[in-house]
Amino acid sequence: MLKNDGIPSQEELAPITPTPARFEKGPVALIECFQDIPCDPCVGACPKHAIIMKDGITDKPHLMPDLCSGCGLCVAKCPGLAIFVLDMAYSPRYAKLSLPYELIPVPKVGDVVNGLDRTGKAVCEVKVLKVITGKQFDHTHVVTIELPKSQAMNVRGIKVSPKGKGK
Ligand code: SF4
Ligand code: SF4
Repeated sequence: MLKNDGIPSQEELAPITPTPARFEKGPVALIECFQDIPCDPCVGACPKHAIIMKDGITDKPHLMPDLCSGCGLCVAKCPGLAIFVLDMAYSPRYAKLSLPYELIPVPKVGDVVNGLDRTGKAVCEVKVLKVITGKQFDHTHVVTIELPKSQAMNVRGIKVSPKGKGK
């Protein structure tokens, strides 16, 4: 169960974290959804059938990492903003993370913004690599950032200043 603050513990994150061998193969989804709620858009969003619910719609989603291509289609479809795609094979020093974003202002490619941890605390600067805004995703944008590998399992949000400089 989640703690009352809604922030997942390391014990909850460990089982949904892909193995180092899977990370070496490229981008993969991280599904940080830990509550048994009646919700399943992630399952239908995945063209690879990599997300399953073993016990019906109120079960938690389970990712089969070897089926996941890291396409990111599930990220914007999750109403809980609980899905991310992490590419640890992106470069020797940096990782690439795609995350859902519903705030304004929307960042632009090339912006340097603050990377936020799960508590909302700014922990590093990150660079915006891509912003996808699909009509079918309503107001959810998928923002892809470059961030230090040391923060890849820590950063799960961004803060964009009105000037797009994050500070
Ligand atoms: S990133 Fe793509 S392949 Fe992986 S679980 Fe999401 S929709 Fe499926
Ligand atoms: S769509 Fe999101 S909130 Fe709903 S079950 Fe899937 S991961 Fe959880």
